[in-house]
Amino acid sequence: MHATAGERYAARPASAALTKTGGFLTGFTHTLQPYIGCAFGCAYCYVQGLSVHRFHQPAAAWGEYVHPRTGIGERLRQELARLRGAGLLDETAIFMSSATDPYQAVERRMRLSRACLTALRDEPPGLLVVQTRSPFVLDDVALLRELGSRGWLSFTIETDRDEVRRALTPRCPAIERRWEAVAAARAAGVQVQVAVSPCLPYSEPAQFGALLLAHADRVVVDTYVSGDGQGGTRTAATTTAAVYQAQGWGDWRAEEAALRLYEWLALRMGARVGWSQAGFTDLARGLRGDTER
Ligand code: SF4
Repeated sequence: MHATAGERYAARPASAALTKTGGFLTGFTHTLQPYIGCAFGCAYCYVQGLSVHRFHQPAAAWGEYVHPRTGIGERLRQELARLRGAGLLDETAIFMSSATDPYQAVERRMRLSRACLTALRDEPPGLLVVQTRSPFVLDDVALLRELGSRGWLSFTIETDRDEVRRALTPRCPAIERRWEAVAAARAAGVQVQVAVSPCLPYSEPAQFGALLLAHADRVVVDTYVSGDGQGGTRTAATTTAAVYQAQGWGDWRAEEAALRLYEWLALRMGARVGWSQAGFTDLARGLRGDTER
């Protein structure tokens, strides 16, 4: 029996806000997910195979459900106050979000990410990284700016070829709109990391690289194999290989093109470009003084 639309968008009141983390995001102390599920429904998204998602929606296809975690802003406020009371707030590094996109369309109605950012503005942690691919994050850019050097926008732009986006992630914002959003966020005074994650087929290192160089304070380049947390096996369970085959893009596991882009950028950006896991966690390790921010 299929879930009805009401069941696919039903609220799941948050019993807690922050989740302790480790693994791929080592260095960050917590993740923060305002939603369960993600309407962007990227073909390659390994989150669709995680047991927590199959638990919430065993039948619905990935991308067909989004559960708002209502009350998460209030929960977060309480948890941040507890961290402050314990003297831990300055060493708290939060990644928002690792298993959903906090600025998909439903956010404009629910404003759960805004509630979280407001709580974080009032009780600033040592580091907040907001990860999205949606220009809707600009609605909250003023809140992010108030976090100053403690706040980063990490914006996903996996390719400079919009036809590649349309083939693999057709519900995601057009690439041109993302460059515009990144430029607007930086113009508003927010630090911006562009996450080429995963690196999809793109034009040429010099062409895509020049855009990244012009738009980003820092860049992370990642691949399916290095970046899905299990050596590519999670991605292998998705339809990614079928799309690559249908499009004639070659082996989805190949990392050479991503490495060429990384090397082109590294020559020009130095430590401001990172590879895969280390690239993502550099900011958090910087908080602990392990590396430069
Ligand atoms: S936006 Fe992120 S969480 Fe959402 S489907 Fe795409 S990869 Fe998955």
